[in-house]
Amino acid sequence: MLQTDSNGYVKLAPREAQILRLLCSEAPSNKEIAARLGIAPTTVRDYIASMCDGIHAWTRGALLIWGLQHPEAMLREWCQPTLHKQGCECGGLLCAVYQIIEKAA
Ligand SMILES: [Zn+2]
Repeated sequence: MLQTDSNGYVKLAPREAQILRLLCSEAPSNKEIAARLGIAPTTVRDYIASMCDGIHAWTRGALLIWGLQHPEAMLREWCQPTLHKQGCECGGLLCAVYQIIEKAA
């Protein structure tokens, strides 16, 4: 389970960090993640559901985007549990990509 501190920041458990790293680098299925880590697909599903709850993401896609916005989570650093919003000017790569996506719409 991920931890939450008094500021509402979150820190992933070691296994969660491994799963997020795979999700954000190769976007494999639960079955593929399970095979890579030598655990059951249902266990992967439970870890992903737990991470989604912890950061209020509704889908694994939102979890993937959160991971790309907060890659330090994969190093088990404390980070914000929220997604950057459209129009964010943090200068992060993904937020720059969003601006292009908005222009393309
Ligand atoms: Zn941003």
